[in-house]
Amino acid sequence: FGGITAVNDLSMRIPTGSITGLIGPNGAGKTTAFNVISGFYNPQEGDILFKGHSVKGFPPHRICRAGMARTFQNIRLFGSETALENVMVGCQVRRKSQWWMPVFSLPSARREEEEIREKAQRRLEIARALATNPDFLLLDEPAAGMNPQESTELMRFIRHIRDEFDLTILLIEHDVKVVMGVCQYIWVLEYGQLIAEGDPDAIRNNPRVIEAYLGEDVSNHA
Ligand code: ATP
Repeated sequence: FGGITAVNDLSMRIPTGSITGLIGPNGAGKTTAFNVISGFYNPQEGDILFKGHSVKGFPPHRICRAGMARTFQNIRLFGSETALENVMVGCQVRRKSQWWMPVFSLPSARREEEEIREKAQRRLEIARALATNPDFLLLDEPAAGMNPQESTELMRFIRHIRDEFDLTILLIEHDVKVVMGVCQYIWVLEYGQLIAEGDPDAIRNNPRVIEAYLGEDVSNHA
């Protein structure tokens, strides 16, 4: 991107049927890698092989039709909110504020309303991706904004859809507990370069990854 090389010399292999993680600090190039894989950006060099065939230079809708679906970090959904409101009703069951609080526009109630909307949109976006009947699903930060109980539920959900729909899943996620809990294999990016790959244990104990990303309290997440 102009002066910035967002992703450089990245080579990844995602085994069919796996749940694989892509992690790294902010700005490491994770979303850019997703955009390259799913056809939103055309890489200057290299290739993207999907089911053994190159999809480099294919437009996103063609890649989607070939069986690859994704969600976005900054949720992009259709304007009509009927489906969204339905999902939001589900979230309302656990809301803490009383029904009359938003009427008086109490800040805590408004905040909770926004959180509910965010979560509902995330679920709806996964539903939309699944509706394309994909073989390969890319999830960009599915646990963003979730509390520990919700992220535990999400891990179960990710495993469930993998099994139910016979999917291969690649996910970008900052929640270390989710990544370590659900992924069989993890790739780590820093400054657009791959700095490590391995199973959760190998990644958790990798000094380079601890220094670049996980920090010293990683054992707390084990
Ligand atoms: P985060 O965890 O914060 O979402 P990320 O690992 O997904 O970060 P990217 O969004 O891929 O990182 O960004 C990698 C680098 O490329 C950053 O320096 C970012 O500012 C830059 N970048 C990303 N998209 C563009 C763009 N369209 N134009 C210019 N620079 C960009």
